[in-house]
Amino acid sequence: MANTPYPQSYYAASANPVPPRPALQGEVETDVCIIGAGYTGLSSALFLLENGFKVSIVEAAKVGFGASGRNGGQIVNSYSRDIDVIERTVGPKQAQLLGQMAFEGGRIIRERVAKYNIQCDLKDGGVFAALTSKQMGHLESQKRLWERFGHTQLELMDQKRIREVVACDSYIGGMLDMSGGHIHPLNLALGEAAAVESLGGIIYEQTPAVRIERGANPVVHTPQGKVRAKFIIVAGNAYLGNLVPELASKSMPCGTQVITTEPLDADLARTLLPQDYCVEDCNYLLDYYRLTSDKRLIFGGGVVYGARDPANIEAIIRPKMLKAFPQLQNVKIDYAWTGNFLLTLSRLPQVGRIGDNIYYSQGCSGHGVTYTHLAGKVLAEALRGQAERFDAFAGLPHYPFPGGQMLRVPFSAIGAWYYSLRDRLGF
Ligand SMILES: Cc1cc2nc3c(=O)[nH]c(=O)nc-3n(C[C@H](O)[C@H](O)[C@H](O)COP(=O)(O)OP(=O)(O)OC[C@H]3O[C@@H](n4cnc5c(N)ncnc54)[C@H](O)[C@@H]3O)c2cc1C
Repeated sequence: MANTPYPQSYYAASANPVPPRPALQGEVETDVCIIGAGYTGLSSALFLLENGFKVSIVEAAKVGFGASGRNGGQIVNSYSRDIDVIERTVGPKQAQLLGQMAFEGGRIIRERVAKYNIQCDLKDGGVFAALTSKQMGHLESQKRLWERFGHTQLELMDQKRIREVVACDSYIGGMLDMSGGHIHPLNLALGEAAAVESLGGIIYEQTPAVRIERGANPVVHTPQGKVRAKFIIVAGNAYLGNLVPELASKSMPCGTQVITTEPLDADLARTLLPQDYCVEDCNYLLDYYRLTSDKRLIFGGGVVYGARDPANIEAIIRPKMLKAFPQLQNVKIDYAWTGNFLLTLSRLPQVGRIGDNIYYSQGCSGHGVTYTHLAGKVLAEALRGQAERFDAFAGLPHYPFPGGQMLRVPFSAIGAWYYSLRDRLGF
């Protein structure tokens, strides 16, 4: 059977040691079979195990192989569309519930890290950087909005103040969220996987789900085995392919690229980001960056609709990095990789149930580190019969992409081009 390794990334190169996790051979029975060992699958597994369920995870490659082991590592609160958009879409009652949950994912991560002693370089503090006065205005209203939901650890920054936390002259201001922050994402996933196993959960690696037999007693088929379960959770996100056709039709995998410098001179690292906060700008196609524990700069940006892998990632991302930090002109890039996230037309997550016993959560559209941790809790609550919060997510509308699966890529690229033009021209 194929043995899919991690992509060559800084994270794979600096991963904590992992035990071997064999592929599934033969037939097993469990309460819940989870498809995919990213944050959605691992977070669901942990909450279920903590509540007495038996759990098996089948993972096509390795724990954290997907976006969860490749991302920028930024703990960003709320969703990829903010609560005011949700309020306009679904009305105040449902928006109130979703708004209350918007800051829970970051808390869950911190609880997990503390409870299971996960070594993942957790640091507090995330900055949203404004390049235009329109973006600054948006941050001001976002602060008011988030405060309505009790999220008060926010500081608006003027040009002078933001220059104290990030050595980039392009920003006219920003907002600091001290409940944001950053982590080594693969080590977070590996630590969560170890926690799953410490509670008796089983993770089969190199074990793709190739077919789901639906019905009162669903079965997940894999190349050399099957899992009989009472419930299935589909957590394959952008790597799921067409396993569940009704999910594939309303979402689109997109690639985004990340580069990592060589370790920086300690003084240079300190001047770039003196408080070691992570930063993302407010553009539609945004740049995001942070330091690692060994003082490299990890810089991400750019989107490839349809998730084709670009031939030369460094050629795409390095110019963006140098635009923000010309002082890195002579710094070498040690790693460059790509990863896929799942875009939905509304940019809101898709959560729901197929039949009585197949649950799913996917499509957080770029900002998923916190949301996926919340999703695990909400899915576990639903399986325990407390579905109020699950229903709030499940009530969000799922739209098909204009142009269907054939034309969604060019149509979305045109849309993104329009929004980036607006960012560049400031309208
Ligand atoms: C490069 C990049 C940078 C990002 N940066 C950030 C960031 O800084 N902050 C932020 O909030 N979000 C970020 N994101 C988004 C975030 O990483 C994702 O939203 C989140 O990790 C999704 O987690 P997941 O568990 O749903 O999916 P994934 O982590 O993609 O996991 C899905 C897993 O399912 C497995 N799988 C798929 N199909 C099958 C099958 N048939 N059988 C078995 N297993 C299967 C895959 O192998 C994979 O391991 C970024 C994403 C990328 C790609």
